[in-house]
Order: sequence, then structure tokens, then C-alpha cells
Amino acid sequence: MNKLEKIVSLAKRRGFIFPGSEIYGGISGIYDYGPLGVELINNIKQEWRRGMFNRPENIFEIDSSILMPRQVWEASGHTSAGFTDPLQECKKCHRRFRADHLSGQEKDKCPDCGGELTKPKKFNLLVETHLGPVKDESSLAYLRGETTQGIYVNYKNIKTSMSADIPFGVGQIGKAFRNEITPGHFIYRMREFEQMEQQYFVKPEEADKYFDFWKNERMNWYLGLGVKKEKLRFRPHTKDELAHYAKGAGDIEYEFPFGWHEIEGIHNRGDWDLSRHSQFSGEDLSEIDEKTGKRFFPFVVETSAGADRAALVFLAEAYDDSDKKRLVLKLHPKLSPYKAAIFPLLANKPDLIEKAKQVFRSLKVSGFNVAWDDRGNIGKRYYSQDEVGTPWTITCDFQTLEDDTVTARDRDTTKQERIKADELKIYFEKFLK
Ligand code: ATP
Repeated sequence: MNKLEKIVSLAKRRGFIFPGSEIYGGISGIYDYGPLGVELINNIKQEWRRGMFNRPENIFEIDSSILMPRQVWEASGHTSAGFTDPLQECKKCHRRFRADHLSGQEKDKCPDCGGELTKPKKFNLLVETHLGPVKDESSLAYLRGETTQGIYVNYKNIKTSMSADIPFGVGQIGKAFRNEITPGHFIYRMREFEQMEQQYFVKPEEADKYFDFWKNERMNWYLGLGVKKEKLRFRPHTKDELAHYAKGAGDIEYEFPFGWHEIEGIHNRGDWDLSRHSQFSGEDLSEIDEKTGKRFFPFVVETSAGADRAALVFLAEAYDDSDKKRLVLKLHPKLSPYKAAIFPLLANKPDLIEKAKQVFRSLKVSGFNVAWDDRGNIGKRYYSQDEVGTPWTITCDFQTLEDDTVTARDRDTTKQERIKADELKIYFEKFLK
């Protein structure tokens, strides 16, 4: 098994990620998060929120709807030529090319990486649905292909209701849907996925400065959660990769077991979004420059991450089977589904069980997600928790009954130390801050 296959297998076996509707044979590009996967992805989202909203910059969180009027997608350019023309996609690097733009001998080969191209397909990235009882052209609607459009359509309402002056940002986490031609690499490329995006609205002359600022902030976010420096890089887009409206853009990339790939886009989108939505909606979204009195459209500097891709990054980074005896998921404690597991040393001693249950209950009601295990021998219990990334395993033994101390075993070093049961919360918090 290669490393990705091992991760897929562990993810299913231990309740992180399941193939969507597996009992019906699955559905391409769709996955479901199991109990531990939900904990992991919620922790990722919580850390993203902490990184976005617990900071001096003025950034608001919203939650916009998945369904929007069709004009939104016309304004954004998603339904215009280029998205609906016959396209061929590279099976290797996933770049798409207009079939009519490829010359004769290149028709089956990717001009960028030489990979094999799919057959030309009439291609609309957006997933279609119908709103209302009659299914005809007038009821056609789309599931959003990106969360960002929900932020532009609310720009004026946010600005007015929150008395916000630029620069300010708006962030949101939510589902997005894309008819990917070639979903794959597990949760890397899905048809239903989740984005964590922030749009920072700035004066045009400040866009470059904020582009660098957000690029660094976002790189540091991954590093701070345990991604190794040599596995992360920022790759500026080449001229022909830039969207026609973009002033500057690049990808944060991670070295997955299947190579370097994008995990987050950092884009200076210029004034494309607000000017297009002004034009299509008839609502003026421009601002007045106080000094010159002239009207202008704010520029948008965007950080666009995928929650699922981030989950795959952290799983790939954490997966460690170098020790022949045990498989360890070395997740950052902030991301670990369980913060600790509580064991009674022996499962047939009622007073030990009662003591361990007290510790378990006390941590649980204090907001720590902790696991309970009294099956089999203690070594097996350790390994079982190592596999799901639990940073500490706490054992209550006979000494606990005498002096209220427990042993805390560290997942990565396997070292044990004795600490007072009522100091566990402080002990964990030190690492979770
Ligand atoms: P790609 O080139 O890989 O298709 P993209 O450039 O189209 O990605 P963006 O539109 O910039 O991606 O979306 C921003 C982020 O949303 C990506 O960096 C990624 O983390 C996430 N994302 C996009 N498409 C998918 C998908 N099909 N499955 C999972 N995550 C996705």
C-alpha cells in the first residue's frame, strides 16, 4: 500500500472518513466524515476562525446561502464561455484547456505537464438544480461553486449594518459544489467540499501590501499547526495561469504523497467582483475616496482554503508508521479528535473504575473531548489511541486511590509522568493554548 492508501484505510477503519453512501457502492468525489473526522474538521475550522477573527484587523464572519440567483454566476463569469465550452482536463495536473485552443498534435497531451487529457466534454463546473415545482429553464439554479460570491452579494449589507470602513474583511466557512471532471486523491478533489474563505476589501493602492500580509499569515497558520517547513511552499501563478481579472495570485502548496499540490489560493482579485456585481445587480458597490472625492471599487485580496484539503494535509503530515511496533498519528493537540483517553489500569476492579470514571466525567464536563477505554490490556489501549492521534493517555492505578495522582503518557515520546488528577486540565491547556 502506498502512503495515501494507508491513510484512506486508517481513515475508514477508525471513523474519520467514509466513502459516501458506501452500501450503495459509493459515489464519485463524495465522502462522509465519521465521528472522529467531524472532530478533526471542526478543530481545523475552529483554528481557522481563531486565525481569522481573533486578531486586530476588522474581519466579520457571515454564513450565506448555497442557493443564489443565477445572475450571481453570470456576473462572476462562471456561466459564460470558458466554463460551458468543450474542455479537456489533464488527468495529472488537472488544468483544463478549451478543446478548440489545442492544436492538432497536442490534442491528447497536456501542454503544461505532458499528462494525458480527457476527451473534450461540454463542461459546466456548477452543479445544477431546479427551484420551485416546475422543472424548466426558468427554474434552473446552481449550487454555489465557491463561497466567495455570497460575500460580495452581502457586501453592502455588511458594510452598512456594521459601519465598516475599508480595509475590512469578511470570512465564511461553507460547502461548495463543483462538477469536477476527474475527482480523486481521496478528499483532495471532491464534488462536494467545504471552503474557508476570507475576502479583504482594500484601497487599490494597498492591495499588494495586503497580498503579502495575508500570504504570510496563511503560511504561518499551517506551520503553527505542525506542518513542516520543507513540505510547504508558495508558488506564484505564472502570467498564463492568472484569471483574466486577477492582479496577482499564487497557491500555497503542500507536498502530498502524490506530489506538490495547491491547498489554498491567495489572490488579488482587483476590482472585478464589486464592479461586476454593481453592473449586473444595478446596486452601486463603489466607495468614495475622501481625499479626491472620486468613486472607486475596493480591491479584494482573498485567502481561499479548503477544509478537506487541510484535513488531508494534517493527516498526511501526522501519519507515522516508522516505528514497526505502532502506528502514530502525530496530530497537533489542537487538532486531535480526543485530547486524552482515560483508562482504569484493570477493568475488574470497581474502585479503580469508579475513580477513572470520575476523572473522565470531570474532563468531559469541562469541555475536553476525552475517550474512555477499559478493554483488553493497557498496551493495546495505548496503540489504539496513538492511531487516532490522542496526545495523552491517562491511567488510574492503585496509587491513584491513595494520593489522587494519575500517569499521563505522551503519545509521541511514550514517556510517562505522574500528575495530580485535578491538575490535568491545566496540564492540557498549556499545550492547547
Ligand atoms: P484546483 O486547481 O485544485 O481545481 P482551484 O484553483 O480551482 O483548485 P480555488 O477555486 O482557488 O481552487 O478554490 C480554493 C480552494 O478550495 C482550493 O485551494 C482548495 O483548497 C479548495 N478546493 C477547490 N476545489 C476543490 C475540490 N474539488 N475538492 C476539495 N477542495 C477544493
